[in-house]
Amino acid sequence: MAEFLWWQALLIGALFFALGWGAARIDMRHVIRARSELPRGFLEALRWLLQGNRERALEALLPVADAHPETVALQNAVAALLRERGEFERAIAIHQRLLARDALSAGERLELTAELAQDFHRAGWLDRAEAHYRALLGTERDAWARQALLAIYQVERAWEQCLALLDSAAPGSLVAAPLLATHWHCEQAVAAMAREAWDEAERHLDAAQSYGASANSVRPLLLRAEWLLAQGRSEEALPLWQEIEHRQPAALALVVPLWLSHLDASTMPQALRQLRRWLRRHPELDVWDRYVDCELAHGDAALAMRRCFWGLQAAPSLFAVAAYLRVLPAQLPSAWLPALERVRGVVEAHLARAARYRCRQCGFAARRHHWHCPACGGWETFPPIRELSASA
Ligand SMILES: [Zn+2]
Repeated sequence: MAEFLWWQALLIGALFFALGWGAARIDMRHVIRARSELPRGFLEALRWLLQGNRERALEALLPVADAHPETVALQNAVAALLRERGEFERAIAIHQRLLARDALSAGERLELTAELAQDFHRAGWLDRAEAHYRALLGTERDAWARQALLAIYQVERAWEQCLALLDSAAPGSLVAAPLLATHWHCEQAVAAMAREAWDEAERHLDAAQSYGASANSVRPLLLRAEWLLAQGRSEEALPLWQEIEHRQPAALALVVPLWLSHLDASTMPQALRQLRRWLRRHPELDVWDRYVDCELAHGDAALAMRRCFWGLQAAPSLFAVAAYLRVLPAQLPSAWLPALERVRGVVEAHLARAARYRCRQCGFAARRHHWHCPACGGWETFPPIRELSASA
């Protein structure tokens, strides 16, 4: 009998491991005591879970759960599988019924509160999820609940609450806290600049830069430059461009349109020289079109064509091809122009359809660059250089 219980325990451990639970929290003694053999549904559920089929595992577990309503762990397992299947209301009903029991241990109560918070979160009832996560602050699930609350507050753009959670957290307990604090101050700076509240924006930029150094973020530098450019202090932005190039050269793809939009005919030649240097050092930047427009308007058309041709060889891309097709007309006989225009139209239409910034965390694609992914909530998960979508 002892040997029999031993392999039963192993099977149950495996079952809950497959469910993604901490086996240590599971107490299945009720089931084992109540029967002389393992319920058949368990073995079936285990088999399905090991085959990766959670649907069939849930179907096998439901009758076992009905026969053992007293078993907290089993009910909890079923509710977790229901939640995964999107049946949030059933999962919530089970967890609420379990939490209403008087005989729960402190550990079980904590675990069930965490499960119920996840039910509400996944169901999109953020206010109820928040209340349950908040009930876990100060417990052994503090850091976990805090991280979940941060995710909710970021979606709601409730930056004050984000910062309050960060400030009251144990040092080092939260993943990516400096990055979040950096962006919280950046968001505040953006809002202040929109109101032309330059002093308030500067205070947030100072704070963002102090966090940004440890988070290795270039956004505070870009915003500081924008703050300077908006006040006509473009000369002072130059050291910031150098710092951005040093820290994250790809971010120059964000610098170029920002800088060019603040220049006039007198400052453009200097910017053009800088742009040539950047593209020579980083031909992978997808700003060849900006360079060409700038060179054709303020520089040397023949030089633009030579640079684009060199760029095509150094870092071949459709972005560089499109830029090359823009400078060719100035160098070709007029008889070639109609055909060239047609080719250019096809390439540019394809780029307009297919060029996207793509979140490296969840794959979400967007026409504009995001610092905060709208799909997965990740910060700085969009590389600043566009790629071409294969489906376009
Ligand atoms: Zn994402």
